[in-house]
Amino acid sequence: MFVFFVPMNKYIYMIMFGLVNFWSVMIHDGEYMISSAVINSAAHHSVHHLYFNYNYGQYFTLWDRIGCSYRTPGEELLNPKLKTDKNVWKKQSKDVDAFDEFGKPTDASDATFKVGPHAKTKAL
Ligand SMILES: [Zn+2]
Repeated sequence: MFVFFVPMNKYIYMIMFGLVNFWSVMIHDGEYMISSAVINSAAHHSVHHLYFNYNYGQYFTLWDRIGCSYRTPGEELLNPKLKTDKNVWKKQSKDVDAFDEFGKPTDASDATFKVGPHAKTKAL
């Protein structure tokens, strides 16, 4: 629908469409190659899918920082050994249930999270 409202050259459109699809695959592939405070990396996007209330940005973290929905990926997402550790997965599953629909910790929370801007998980 966008191109009907904002006409553009068909080749530019195809290049941009290809780049958007490439980026979308890259942030869902589980390979966390970069840890950046500015770029919304695959690790940031995994936080989005794990906890739902964080890191909505597609490319950058700016608007999440402004809107207080930014959350730094924990070491468990960036360390290859921790990323596949079943104990880490259990903890992540427990932590997912420790928040209500508004992203606030519930009674099930073991207080391992700080909620709000620049929130970061504690080291495991
Ligand atoms: Zn996604």
